[in-house]
Amino acid sequence: MITLGIVGAGQLGRMLAHAGWDLGIRCVFLDPADAPPARGLGPIHRAPFDDIDALHALATEVDVLTFEFENLSAEALARLPSTTPIHPPTRALAIAQSRRAEKRQFEALGIAVAPWRPVDSQADLEHAADALGLPLVVKLDRLGYDGRGQEWLREPVDVVGCFNRFNGAALVAEQRVPFDREVSQIACRSVAGDLALYPLTENQHRDGILYRSVVAPMADELTQAAAEATSQLAAELEYVGTLTVEFFVVGDRLIANEMAPRVHNSGHWTIEGATTSQFENHLRAVCDLPLGATRALGPVGMRNFVGSLPRVQDVLALPGVRFHGYDKPPRPGRKLGHATVLDADYTRLLETFKTLDERFPWGGGA
Ligand code: AMP
Repeated sequence: MITLGIVGAGQLGRMLAHAGWDLGIRCVFLDPADAPPARGLGPIHRAPFDDIDALHALATEVDVLTFEFENLSAEALARLPSTTPIHPPTRALAIAQSRRAEKRQFEALGIAVAPWRPVDSQADLEHAADALGLPLVVKLDRLGYDGRGQEWLREPVDVVGCFNRFNGAALVAEQRVPFDREVSQIACRSVAGDLALYPLTENQHRDGILYRSVVAPMADELTQAAAEATSQLAAELEYVGTLTVEFFVVGDRLIANEMAPRVHNSGHWTIEGATTSQFENHLRAVCDLPLGATRALGPVGMRNFVGSLPRVQDVLALPGVRFHGYDKPPRPGRKLGHATVLDADYTRLLETFKTLDERFPWGGGA
């Protein structure tokens, strides 16, 4: 039996462990929370994510180590004994932790990004506003997520004192992309370098948080461009595991926004809606097993429940809808569960999403 260490026991860890259960892979977690969503699915080392002793103890107990979220110390992981493989590579994690590093990596591969500037002072910000024009979005270089740590500057007055509002943190200033759609490419790369690509999903955000992801009809050129950029990135990083790249679509062009070195919320539909889920494929990749097919079984998508969770019976009352609850205490802006919608007919699928909207209004916002 393979034993897999997972740093983080949140809902992604929970969904990974479910996939592991079916494969007979034993999962052991590290997480500081008292009652994280993956509790009950395997032993948990209760320690902070950057606790080097706890990471060391976990690494020596397992055959392979992975992580389910990004805000952990890449340096601490890199210091662990090399006898336990860590997948995805810590280099990919380190790049994804810094928006600057991420944009430079995309640029180095010739993958388009929004015009941007690093910002380390109010003067830098003013220069960026002059050079890039308004509106601009200012983002924390590190540790921002779900639209947190971001501010939109629309008028010159918004620029005044903006740097101080971030308490001196390193920032990036980014030109607004007038996107038509947002899409993500989820891919999974094996130890041998095989790459499995999921269909692109179209993503909608509210309050900066992912609201809905649907496998939507997509022009072949976009599909090819996303696949090409993602394979290039995965090869460059010698990546192993599931990798997500988020893009803006502007006309027939793709502009990379960010990457996530992990399973991703926009791929939750793959649990019921793909031949092999992103979670199972991540486990297969990191445990050096053959990858599974990534086809969508038909029109499919998912909708997040944020801030409050509807009753399971009310969601399941809708035909073709599956419910996932993460067993987390409700809090504004917190992802508490999701629904997957499957239908043989795409138009009817969209109607079901509309009904979900009407019955369970968005409860997001931080
Ligand atoms: P991020 O944390 O970078 O994923 O940003 C969260 C969301 O804010 C994105 O999914 C977009 O909807 C929006 N956003 C971020 N950056 C930009 C940009 N440069 N132009 C337009 N919208 C953006």
